Amino acid sequence: MSTAIQLADNTAFIDQYGRQKRKLRISVTDRCNFKCSYCMPEHPKWAEKHTLLSFEALYQFCQFMVQRGIEQIRITGGEPLMRQGIVHFIAQLQQLKPLGLKRISMTTNGHYLTKYALDLKQAGLDDLNVSLDSLDEAQFQQLTQKHLQPVLAGIAQAQLVGLKVKVNCVLIKHCNDNQIVPLTHWAIKQEIELRFIEFMPLDGDQKWSATDVVTEQDILNELATVFKQIDALEQGNNPARLYRVDHTTIGIISTISHSFCHQCDRLRLTAQGDFYTCLFAQEGLNIKLLLDHLIGDKDATYQDLEQQLTDVIWSKALGFSAIQAQKQQKSGRISMHMMGG
Ligand code: SAM
Ligand code: SF4
Repeated sequence: MSTAIQLADNTAFIDQYGRQKRKLRISVTDRCNFKCSYCMPEHPKWAEKHTLLSFEALYQFCQFMVQRGIEQIRITGGEPLMRQGIVHFIAQLQQLKPLGLKRISMTTNGHYLTKYALDLKQAGLDDLNVSLDSLDEAQFQQLTQKHLQPVLAGIAQAQLVGLKVKVNCVLIKHCNDNQIVPLTHWAIKQEIELRFIEFMPLDGDQKWSATDVVTEQDILNELATVFKQIDALEQGNNPARLYRVDHTTIGIISTISHSFCHQCDRLRLTAQGDFYTCLFAQEGLNIKLLLDHLIGDKDATYQDLEQQLTDVIWSKALGFSAIQAQKQQKSGRISMHMMGG
């Protein structure tokens, strides 16, 4: 079991607007076997392997963050199942539960799940989000450049081994917005919680336009053509707005039309060690050298890391319209496959 790190300060991370940070998203790779049009650039330039944070550095960071109030860690990417050693890392993270970590989750495109679902369950993964943007093979291929069948088989396998699965669907106007009703019917049949995500301006080639966004209202209107009873549920601290539709729960992450920034409790780390307080932040704070130093020198202290993170988290912006962010974006801005969704 992990013994606690000696820190000068054990208080929870909080920003200038009083929002305590409880969730950490870690991208373990920028690489992906899919090429989703809303995420990956046409010509991705992968980070070189030696520039990635080692699992040792990631573990040190997670331990530090759990001692500063992080309760949930989500592993993402790129495609997290493409990073060798990821299952072992998840098993290792279990050691942080006695220190306050409550949940370890993963977001995956599902392609490798038939191979890894049982290992993930045995490693103690608490829940899994799988991206599924269409049930139509041709449309799925057009969106992702990959086949649908392995993803459906992966979801089935994850359910079979007892993993708690949610499905995420990013909707794009005139592309896959005809999937709202079929995916909802499918989710009801599979007894899976489905969440629609509004398309955000984080695509690699920066082609996003507000006119491509299928809004929460569009989704509800479409559902209302088929389902007679749609009841809004208590949202709580969930970024998704929840609806009860025919005995299943549908979530809508409406970052564009109803931003959840006022309650944001998330922090993010990229595979190369860039620390971000917001999906739409213009730049991150690179902490790779600090983490490598902590591993390499047994006498090193956490003081610098604590100070730098405390400052950057405190300065977190209140939150701003994603559309404005898109207008202000500079060419160097990173996309979703690097940040992790
Ligand atoms: N490869 C994994 C996957 O696709 O699930 C994990 C990484 S992916 C970047 C995480 C999530 O971000 C996915 O649910 C994906 O659909 C979502 N995403 C990617 N680009 C997006 C965008 N431009 N707007 C909204 N969601 C996006
Ligand atoms: Fe890969 Fe996920 Fe981005 Fe699709 S959304 S390209 S699966 S990282």
